[in-house]
Amino acid sequence: MGDGDGPTAGERTSFVRMSLKDRISAQIAANGPMRIADYMALCLFDPADGYYTTKEPFGADGDFTTAPEISQMFGELVGAALVGHWNRLGAPHPFTLAEIGPGRGTLFADMSRTVAALAPDMMEAANAVLIEASPRLQTVQAERLAEAGIAARHVASLDAIAPDSPLVIVGNELFDALPFQQFVRTEKGWRERVVLLDGDGDLVFGIGPGTIDDALLPPGLKATDIGAVLEISPQRAALMDEIAHRLARQGGAALFFDYGHVDPGFGDTFQAVARHAYADPLAEPGRADLTSHVDFAALAATARSHDLNVTLSTQGEWLLRHGLLERAGALGAGKDDQTQDRLRGEVQRLAGNGPDEMGDLFKVIEITPSQTE
Ligand code: SAH
Repeated sequence: MGDGDGPTAGERTSFVRMSLKDRISAQIAANGPMRIADYMALCLFDPADGYYTTKEPFGADGDFTTAPEISQMFGELVGAALVGHWNRLGAPHPFTLAEIGPGRGTLFADMSRTVAALAPDMMEAANAVLIEASPRLQTVQAERLAEAGIAARHVASLDAIAPDSPLVIVGNELFDALPFQQFVRTEKGWRERVVLLDGDGDLVFGIGPGTIDDALLPPGLKATDIGAVLEISPQRAALMDEIAHRLARQGGAALFFDYGHVDPGFGDTFQAVARHAYADPLAEPGRADLTSHVDFAALAATARSHDLNVTLSTQGEWLLRHGLLERAGALGAGKDDQTQDRLRGEVQRLAGNGPDEMGDLFKVIEITPSQTE
C-alpha cells in the first residue's frame, strides 16, 4: 500500500470524536449560556452520547432501580387497576393500551400478564403500543416482550398513535425525565438559571437573561425571597395536555407514577444519579440520569382543565389501596422464609415511608373521564 491510500489529515481528525461535554462546551462558547432544558435534552437524548440513547441505566449493575424492577407486584397491581378502568369505560373494543417510557419493558410485561389472566377479552381488545423515544431502549423492550410472548408495536411519540379509539395509558418515571427550566429570584425579578463556562472551561450554573412574569407563577405561589428557585416544565405540561385532550375526546384513562410533590413550592430539585448515588448534574454529561421532581399539582391542573376526573395519591397509599399486602400474602403463601423475607422487603421499598423507600416520595396521578367516577 502506498502513502496515497491512507486517510488524509482531514479524514483522520474526523475519527477523533468530541465527547458530549466538549460539544456542549463548544456550543456554549459559540452561542452563549444554555438553558437547563436544552442541557438536559442533550444529556439524555443526544443520538451519539445521550444517557437514554446509549447507556444501560436500570438495575443493580446500572444507575438506578425503578418500581417495576423492584417487584413484579408493581406491574401486577397496575394491570389489575387497568382492568377496572377498562370495565368502567364500558369494555371498549378495540382500544389502545399504551405505556410511555417503558425502560426495560418490565412493567408492560407484568401488567399484560395480569390483564390477560384477569380479563382475556380486554387483552384481545387491546392494541398494545410502547411509546419510547430511545431507539436502543425500543430494541431492549421488543426483546423483553418477545420473550414474554406479548405482541406490542413501537412508536417514538404519542402523536404517532391514531386518535381513533379510547386510550388507556400508563407511565412510570417518565415525566421526571422530560426537560424543565429553573428561574432564580433576583433583585430584578425572576431570571432563568443557565449552564455556562467558568474561567477554567468547566460547566457551571449561572443566571441568564430569560425571565418569567409573576403572573405566570403557579396558583398559590407568591414572589419570594432573593435566591429562591422556581421550576417549571412546559414540556411536561404539553405532554399532559396532549394526553388529557385525547382522554377527553376519545375516552380512556391514565395512570402515572413519579418522584415528586403534590403541593406547589420553591426549591432546586435538579438531580443527577449515577451508579446508585447522587452526582453533580454538570460533571459528566450523558453519563448520569438527570431528573427533577414532578409537580403533580401542575399535571393535575392541566388534566382538570379538560374536565377530567383526577385523583392524586402517594405511591404507598395507591399500592395499599390496590391490594399490595394481599398480593404479597398470596405470593408468599406456603413459601420458604427466604421468599417471604424478599416479598416483605419489596413491599417495604415500594410502599414504605422511609427516606430510601418509595411510598411517600413517589406520587400517583390517575385520570378518568368525569362521568365514570
Ligand atoms: N418506566 C421505566 C423506565 C423509566 S426511565 C421503569 O420504570 O423502569 C424513563 C424512560 O422514559 C426511558 O425509557 C426513556 O427512554 C423514556 N423517555 C424519556 N423521554 C421520553 C419521551 N419524550 N417519550 C417517550 N419516552 C421517553
